[in-house]
Amino acid sequence: MATVGFIGLGNMGGPMAANLVKGGHKVTVFDLSEAALEQARAAGCSVAGEVSEVTQGADFVISMLPADHHVEGVYLGDKGLHKTLSKTTLVIDCSTISAETARKLGAELQQSGIEFIDAPVSGGVGGAKAGTLTFICGGAESAVERARTVLNDMGKNVFRAGDAGAGQVAKICNNMLLSVLMAGTSEALQLGIAHGLDPKVLSEIMLQSSGRNWTLEVYNPCPDVMEGVPSSNDYQGGFLVDLMAKDLGLAQQAALRSGASTPMGSLTLNLYRSWAQLGHGREDFSSIFKYVTPQTKK
Ligand code: NAD
Repeated sequence: MATVGFIGLGNMGGPMAANLVKGGHKVTVFDLSEAALEQARAAGCSVAGEVSEVTQGADFVISMLPADHHVEGVYLGDKGLHKTLSKTTLVIDCSTISAETARKLGAELQQSGIEFIDAPVSGGVGGAKAGTLTFICGGAESAVERARTVLNDMGKNVFRAGDAGAGQVAKICNNMLLSVLMAGTSEALQLGIAHGLDPKVLSEIMLQSSGRNWTLEVYNPCPDVMEGVPSSNDYQGGFLVDLMAKDLGLAQQAALRSGASTPMGSLTLNLYRSWAQLGHGREDFSSIFKYVTPQTKK
């Protein structure tokens, strides 16, 4: 059993912290949202009055925050945790942020003798609830091994992509591919529907054919084809359009820096950004299905 501090109890962090409690760990949590703290309390977590309290006696501090500036603010800001963390604590940031920020955070914590790994996740809210996430880690091998004590209670796969920041690079590669699959699957389904096909039947055909992919398997974007997914819940719960647009922006920044050619990633970034600007930023990313609704013939 470990003593764990957990920061960021949103769609992902809430169920992840609850799974740590189920795994027998002592978990102290912090979030800016009172509602999120109440849910965590009900799941058996202790609630900290302020963020620095989560570091007290912690073997691990885990964060699951939206974006770079939240992570930098929590660890490195004026009241940053780098001032209260102990040298025996391993910091695990599971947020999806830029590799540069992850490396900067790792380097700054290392100056105070504190170990850090980036460990962004794949598997969505379903995976967070079921405890079947995939952790994509960057950092020293020994630190990743040590992290398994807690990661194994929240997920079923732990990969080490390389040194600090490498987990974030692998994660944005995955999410760029996911956005292309989601947009492409949405287009294909809408084309079939426009020609009178039943989306359930078309989904089953493509699942057993060469168009098979993760979105058809577990996250169909067409309402009422699949139970328990955001598309069948008015695109609520899940992975926000705003967050997908953020990840695609990170992928394009990384491509520019390295000279990699990512035309499909650039297309999906523009699709997701304009969908967010049309007011859909707080919907699940599978709502891109509605963006490609066929035009009515005049
Ligand atoms: P979310 O918006 O649901 O939750 C973020 C939480 O962080 C909120 O509860 C918010 O109140 C809290 N927060 C923000 N600033 C804070 C601060 N300074 N101190 C304490 N708490 C703070 O986001 P999410 O969907 O849980 O995603 C979190 C991260 O995981 C993101 O980086 C996202 O890209 C990544 N991710 C999400 C999914 C998904 O399916 N939702 C999947 C994989 C990865």
